[in-house]
Amino acid sequence: MKYYSTNKQAAKATLQEAVVKGLASDKGLFMPEVIKQLPSSFFEEMKDMSFQEIAYVVADAFFGEDVDAASLKEIVYDTLSFDVPLVHVNDNIYSLELFHGPTLAFKDVGARFMSRLLGYFIKKEGQKKVNVLVATSGDTGSAVANGFLGVEGIHVYVLYPKGKVSPIQECQFTTLGKNITALEVDGVFDDCQALVKSAFMDKELNDHMKLTSANSINVARFLPQAFYYFYAVAQLHKMGIKKDIVICVPSGNFGNITAGLFGKHMGLPVKRFIAANNRNDIFFKYLQTGVYSPKPSVQTIANAMDVGDPSNFARILDLYKESHEAIAAEIGGCTYTDEQIRETLKNCFDKTQYLLDPHGAVGYRALCEHLQPGETGVFLETAHPAKFKETVESIIGKEVEIPAKLQAFMKGEKQSIQMTKDFASFKSFLLKE
Ligand SMILES: *Cc1c(COP(=O)(O)O)cnc(C)c1O
Repeated sequence: MKYYSTNKQAAKATLQEAVVKGLASDKGLFMPEVIKQLPSSFFEEMKDMSFQEIAYVVADAFFGEDVDAASLKEIVYDTLSFDVPLVHVNDNIYSLELFHGPTLAFKDVGARFMSRLLGYFIKKEGQKKVNVLVATSGDTGSAVANGFLGVEGIHVYVLYPKGKVSPIQECQFTTLGKNITALEVDGVFDDCQALVKSAFMDKELNDHMKLTSANSINVARFLPQAFYYFYAVAQLHKMGIKKDIVICVPSGNFGNITAGLFGKHMGLPVKRFIAANNRNDIFFKYLQTGVYSPKPSVQTIANAMDVGDPSNFARILDLYKESHEAIAAEIGGCTYTDEQIRETLKNCFDKTQYLLDPHGAVGYRALCEHLQPGETGVFLETAHPAKFKETVESIIGKEVEIPAKLQAFMKGEKQSIQMTKDFASFKSFLLKE
């Protein structure tokens, strides 16, 4: 399979090139040349298949031409060694719990898959050592660091703003050791991101070492997120719910929802999607006006969605051939304030005993407000509520227990390297690596 750039200027790339590069040379995002339709027999049999079996069929459609069957199967099965249950919340609303992975975030799926696919290219295809640079305000760093931990031929540098990530998040990427280096930057998240961007553009550095990113611009991180959309629909089929399925995705950079839209293009029977936003409402405004105008992000309590210029918007435009009408026909939108998020989380807990995290709360509320009679709604619960312990506790007035998996990280010893936000010092550090 060849991958083209959404900017249409760069030459087409192989899967290996697309994964190793991350971004195309014309700064566009890679898109697979063909989106394969899956046979109707698969959609009928899906309800009796396991998550791993379903995911392998989808992975084969994406990557089967480029990765041998036995290796691809191993990558898929190893990535998805945890469950993604569909839990009934109330009425016709279900939560797809994506937080049962190692760092309790949906990003575990993409990060693990990408690390294993890169590992495959390094071992089988003789790809030379790859260095992953990731700037994080918390969640991405922990998922990527844990996903890539111990994978041979890859080193990960996590850049995070000193004193600005929660203690639970910090220990998820500073206590690992091995091929993970945590860089504690004296600055804010934007400074970390600026350092990473400058590194990707620095010729001397790129001649010295192979650098790549691991955010949702990378095809190997974003496409595997399609797996659980199929599994969600399969679980509804098993309950006898076959039509008028609406899926709602709490969205920031729009990688997650774009993977779902790919699923729909492969034949997955979803009636429509809803992109749920916090106050960062750029996509919502686009749906209403047809005009896309990015702006600086504003801080909210659903902070993994504080994005003012969603990078995967380019992929959505490309998927629908730039048609605002086609996009608005398949994707609905909504935007909520922190106050509304708090109110939703509390009401849902009081009414149903189901504890949402602030991101999932945005998705749940969108379904409560926008589901039509006869429709069944699934929202993606993108993180475990304990990851936002202080916020959630202040809303429900009760203690939230930290799962054993998270607690285990807190026992490790923190190791980090102090870094200024000055690019010259970051560069000289990397040149010595
Ligand atoms: C990353 C993240 C999101 C946003 O996902 P995108 O793919 O960037 O749209 C939502 N919720 C949580 C908890 C996240 O970590």
